[in-house]
Amino acid sequence: MSGCRGASWESIARTLQTDNAPDAEIADRLHCAPAFVRRVRKDLGMRPWPVRVELQRRSVKPGDCEVADEVQRRYSELAVVIEDGHRRWRGRFSKDNVPMYSHKDSAYRVAFRIQHRREPVGQVRVECERARCVEGLHLSDQLMRERAKELRQETEALDGQL
Ligand SMILES: [Zn+2]
Repeated sequence: MSGCRGASWESIARTLQTDNAPDAEIADRLHCAPAFVRRVRKDLGMRPWPVRVELQRRSVKPGDCEVADEVQRRYSELAVVIEDGHRRWRGRFSKDNVPMYSHKDSAYRVAFRIQHRREPVGQVRVECERARCVEGLHLSDQLMRERAKELRQETEALDGQL
């Protein structure tokens, strides 16, 4: 495939299948054009995920938080994408080894806000195997963990009935 330096059709397809995200986000991660991601997605018969539509829809929900462009820019400069889509923080760390965006905000919370467009509830935790990963998709807050637990319990209950 031409027209896309740094990422092949296969690598995009693999990312879409294992770690689906909006076109622009995958394009950013794999250093290629969003249009190419859109095309691969279409080839795979997957539903389109143009980030703008998604963000607009999210931004009308109550309780949303706006993340300033400047904050997003600084975050992506400091949160370097490494292998398998993890992000390594090259900014400051607290003395407890927490990646810090500013004096009061951890990089986790900022990454979470950028990813989910809302304030995280309770503690933000890294869910992937990479310690101190600051990729928004690899983080969870209390609300997400509670929902996941509920879902697990429902599934177990259903399994029990069968
Ligand atoms: Zn990670």
